[in-house]
Amino acid sequence: MDRVYNFSAGPSMMPLPVLESIQKDLVNYKGMGLSVMEMSHRSKMYEDIIFASRENLKKIMGISDDYAILFLQGGATLQFSSVAMNMSLSNDNIDYVITGEFAKKAYEEAKKYSKNAKAIASSEDKKYTYIPTIDKSVLSANSKYLHITLNNTIYGTMYNALPNIGDTSLVADASSIILGKEYDINKFDLMYAGAQKNIGIAGVSVVIVKKSKLVDVESNVPSILDFKKQIKNDSMLNTPPTFAIYVLGLMLEWVISQGGVKTLESINKEKAKILYDTIDNSKIFTANASVESRSIMNVNFVAKDENITNSFIDFAKTKGIINIKGHKAVGGLRASIYNAMPIEGVKKLVNAIKDFELKNK
Ligand SMILES: *Cc1c(COP(=O)(O)O)cnc(C)c1O
Repeated sequence: MDRVYNFSAGPSMMPLPVLESIQKDLVNYKGMGLSVMEMSHRSKMYEDIIFASRENLKKIMGISDDYAILFLQGGATLQFSSVAMNMSLSNDNIDYVITGEFAKKAYEEAKKYSKNAKAIASSEDKKYTYIPTIDKSVLSANSKYLHITLNNTIYGTMYNALPNIGDTSLVADASSIILGKEYDINKFDLMYAGAQKNIGIAGVSVVIVKKSKLVDVESNVPSILDFKKQIKNDSMLNTPPTFAIYVLGLMLEWVISQGGVKTLESINKEKAKILYDTIDNSKIFTANASVESRSIMNVNFVAKDENITNSFIDFAKTKGIINIKGHKAVGGLRASIYNAMPIEGVKKLVNAIKDFELKNK
């Protein structure tokens, strides 16, 4: 079988040049006689890889020396806990916006540590199809931070404008949009992301944090979750996910080769536009998210009934389009169109929608 257009929400499609580069260097990395998998993380060879990844991310996102970049394990899910433990003490007020499953999980995990974590807004009333408007007036007194989920992978919504919260720290789960849209990192005191959606493979997550905002963690916090200790050890307090960090580095080089985030964002917007336009003009499918909160990374849509959904999934498969089934929490269909999904893939999906509609008039 030829390579397919894989619309999976994560782990998701990777750019072919990145896969080919891994393949070329897999057994004998740049003629050094061994694979990246076999390198000591304490070796000069490996340090070159991890430090280059960090420098490239700094360059791509315009991150200043006020911030630290960490490459950690445990996925975005472990950061739900770590963020609370590193940005607040357990009796501080911290605030959460609940815009979907992951936002809710972030809040639930924070509550295990924090006595005063609060959900200050939610879009559950309309099945998470929109992003609530937040301003400073709804925050808790002396709130240490507001946690938001920049792009809601499961529901297909995103913040098209950041909440205006003055000096309060903004903390964001950017798992499914990091490097897919340009952000001014200075507006955030912490941003984190699991790599397997838009910037690599499962096994590593990225944390970008303003160093001055970190607390000295409480004494029962495990060392491995202590960001200050991780910073001091260049993310190598213990063995880091060496291969995943290497792949992340290749993804960053690919982003640079594509013209950076600005260029990718404009392509992503174009991809999203042709897909939403097709759905909006369809008599069979409708988009889930409210227009002003539509995600440019995960496009959710539904057919009138489950049978049509399933027959479209089968039809799409015959055209080399896979993984368009919606998350079980939502049902319907979801096309994840991260950076690695070329516009040709989206055009193929759009044509499949149109062909399907003609056949099912
Ligand atoms: C996928 C995802 C997560 C969970 O990531 P893991 O790396 O599996 O823990 C968290 N938040 C968002 C927004 C996601 O898309």
